[in-house]
Amino acid sequence: MVRYHSTRDPHKKLVTFEEALLKGLAPDGGLYIPDRIPHIAPEAWLGARSLAEVGVAVLGEWLKGDIPVSDLEAIVHDALNFPCPLVKLSDDLYVLELFHGPTLSFKDFGARTMARLMQYFLRKRGERRIILVATSGDTGSAVADGFAGQENIEVVLLYPKGKVSEVQERQLITQRPGVRSFAVEGTFDDCQRMVKEAFVDPELAHLPLSSANSINIGRLLPQALYYLWAVAQLHRHTQITEVNFCVPSGNLGNLMAGLLAALMGQPVHRFIAAHNDNHFFPDFLQGKAEAYQFHPTIATLSNAMDVGAPSNFERLYTLLGAEKLRAWIWGTTVTNEATLERMQKTHETYSYVACPHTAVGLEAQARYRQQTADPTPIISLACAHPAKFPDVVLKALGQEPPREPALQALYSRPTQVQAIGPTLQALKTFLL
Ligand SMILES: *Cc1c(COP(=O)(O)O)cnc(C)c1O
Repeated sequence: MVRYHSTRDPHKKLVTFEEALLKGLAPDGGLYIPDRIPHIAPEAWLGARSLAEVGVAVLGEWLKGDIPVSDLEAIVHDALNFPCPLVKLSDDLYVLELFHGPTLSFKDFGARTMARLMQYFLRKRGERRIILVATSGDTGSAVADGFAGQENIEVVLLYPKGKVSEVQERQLITQRPGVRSFAVEGTFDDCQRMVKEAFVDPELAHLPLSSANSINIGRLLPQALYYLWAVAQLHRHTQITEVNFCVPSGNLGNLMAGLLAALMGQPVHRFIAAHNDNHFFPDFLQGKAEAYQFHPTIATLSNAMDVGAPSNFERLYTLLGAEKLRAWIWGTTVTNEATLERMQKTHETYSYVACPHTAVGLEAQARYRQQTADPTPIISLACAHPAKFPDVVLKALGQEPPREPALQALYSRPTQVQAIGPTLQALKTFLL
């Protein structure tokens, strides 16, 4: 059995996966990390025919003793039921398209799997939960969609009114069973504060409140799967097994998942951490910043990566330490201007339309190749569908991205949203 302890606990008191999943954050404010990382033999995933097949093999090792295999199979096949193709741009550059899930970003992998795992344990316990989420972008819609209709779970979504894009808002307010959306008359920070206050409010103490943010271990493990699945796809055509992964990063959850895949035994020569103007982590990797020397958040075109103080840094740093992180990960920071230029160049060179987040990655990998002359093939993660960011695509390419039927369909579905003031009191009226 793999068990977990808090990054902040000197005694490393262990809890089960179930407890780490249902708690999210450890009681001391730290993040849960595994007490050991199972080694997964390449035979278990290299010949796999689908992501779900990789999922059953790999999560089967992680959750041995926690969930019977037949239950896990049902969860994984239901959660990971959409494609995740590796697209070749050139002989040494591939993109892994992570945006074919229901809300068109990689957040669907983690949110859908975590929802089903939570539902499994809650049903066993005969308990229910109300998931409170503050969101500024992709997380909210992935969580709302992933958890919708799961018995025993309700979702309450807070987003800053008028501060998310039109497409994002439509995704957030689409009516879903068990989901209530609130447009908060304030900022994202107000939404986050309201959630934090709700958790410690005595009048709400009797409610089974829970969170689903990206620090939950139940979102990270499923994300590790697509790193293995990417190489399985590449290997089928090329016999290549060792690659570099380029990861557009914000809160560093995706990069943490990639590191887990590598620690399980997948050969990764280098990771490339691609950041926008929120540059703490590249600075840290280059020795220009100390651990935890965070900055205030800066707004950019790749808004899902706008994180000044990445919470998963604590996990990376505790698991690997500065020296290993600096040896294994190469980082760079990409401005808005360079992002737009890379979107344009990618379209010109490969006829490929990249979303701004994906473009930050493509710019970073190009710099890495040029500065290091490392010939290892690179797989760059494509994090969201370009159709989610029509304005940025129009600005970069002079034309709108191709229409995406899944997004078009949203506009004919009923919506549900309630505007509220930026105070806990306003939220309480609805919760109680
Ligand atoms: C969340 C997100 C990111 C950043 O991922 P982290 O795990 O927070 O580093 C990048 N791109 C898109 C499209 C996202 O939704």
